Amino acid sequence: MSSLFLDYRDPLFGIMAFLLIIATIATLSMFFGKLKNDTESRRIKRFLQKFPSGSDEGGYVKILEAHPDSLELLTKVAKAHYDGGDYEKALKIYLALLEWLSVFEKAKRAQILSCVGDIYTKSGFLQRSVDAYEQSLGLVARNQAVLEKLSRLYEKRGEYQKALEAVDALIEMGVDKQKERRFLEGIVSLKSAATFDEKLSILESLCGFSPYFAREYLKELLLTDQKRAATFLSDKGDVRFLDILWSFELDEEIFKESANQVVKSVLAVKTKRYEESVESGIFELDVLTAAKSAKPNMAIGLGFEFVCQKCGNLDIDYFFSCKCCGAIDECRVAPEITKVSQDSALFLESW
Ligand SMILES: [Zn+2]
Repeated sequence: MSSLFLDYRDPLFGIMAFLLIIATIATLSMFFGKLKNDTESRRIKRFLQKFPSGSDEGGYVKILEAHPDSLELLTKVAKAHYDGGDYEKALKIYLALLEWLSVFEKAKRAQILSCVGDIYTKSGFLQRSVDAYEQSLGLVARNQAVLEKLSRLYEKRGEYQKALEAVDALIEMGVDKQKERRFLEGIVSLKSAATFDEKLSILESLCGFSPYFAREYLKELLLTDQKRAATFLSDKGDVRFLDILWSFELDEEIFKESANQVVKSVLAVKTKRYEESVESGIFELDVLTAAKSAKPNMAIGLGFEFVCQKCGNLDIDYFFSCKCCGAIDECRVAPEITKVSQDSALFLESW
């Protein structure tokens, strides 16, 4: 617990402390002014009159010491600050609550630590967020929401083994996380693969499970064995591989016989044999090919975004689970026609 307080006192948050003291009374008064319960509101106003100049973290503790039944109200105030995006104020109250609560009130402490973790996540302090969630689970282990947040954080930080353990705990609780489990298991086994062949065979075995692995498999093949890549692509001509094909140097001799319409089109652009292009079924690629066919020197190319089909979140890379909504295998490769600089155009022409 002490590490949280120490962390909190570093300059990143410390600068807010003085401003908070000044703003607290006004904010609390405003908040409680909105409460329907007038009696309650008057009671809180009386609290505040007793602490006119010191409602910092220690001030909240004093309020709690004098009026233990204000815990719930302060929790609501903290939540209101959080919902309003004022994370520093919310954090200050939560830390005071943690300081005041007895170590035996595990469930309440766990709940507050979870809120503290949320604040750190929102503020981009992922390590502190992990610390807070872990401490919360240390008090109440079977907490689905915290376990889910923690597993996502671990995954984001590349701590796949830990993410796997969190997912296993969720599965034990009866939550359906089998797909996440298989994904994480796959990533963990890839990381521990001793040889390239082993890595390749793991990827091959996971191709049917998720396009995420099929893409990784294709990348490895394009780097090391383009004939195998061509075979792999023969029956997989869709947009999911377009950005990869677009970014790799394709061996013309190997790919020119490909029956894959997307491969054919990409190769036509790369070799500047636009007449050999075909309808790929991908609108942007077909428009680009047609434009290049009419005007070969036109400085245009393709750019890519990766969109979650569930929530619309954009990412700069292909993802298995959406960082925003957590949806699985909902990533769509979204090509767009972009202008390319002269340098890029020259680079393309060197093909
Ligand atoms: Zn999403």
